[in-house]
Amino acid sequence: MTLHRSVGFLPLLRSLRQHCPPVLPMRVRRCKIPASVGAIADCALMSDDEGKPSHSSIRVASRLPEIAACDALAHEVAHALAYTTEHPAFLDHGPEWGLAMARVYRAHEALLR
Ligand SMILES: [Zn+2]
Repeated sequence: MTLHRSVGFLPLLRSLRQHCPPVLPMRVRRCKIPASVGAIADCALMSDDEGKPSHSSIRVASRLPEIAACDALAHEVAHALAYTTEHPAFLDHGPEWGLAMARVYRAHEALLR
């Protein structure tokens, strides 16, 4: 998905939290990501002290223009949504991610109406 217009990073994030809540809590930061990492955004599964999945952590590079940051946010939120106990390997771009991306896209489109 490529967004061609958006309502802005924080309104999009608020809307996705409301309309597409993931199984695990989701922490989102728009921050510096070193160029050496080679990514503009990422999503990681974090664990508690007992090794149980506790939340997903999404980072979006602060250097991205607003529309690209929204696009990256949508992509990474779909990863967080794709996580289930049946599908713990949520960092692929398989069918679960595709369905999650469709949910995110519909929520985004509803925001623009
Ligand atoms: Zn991805």
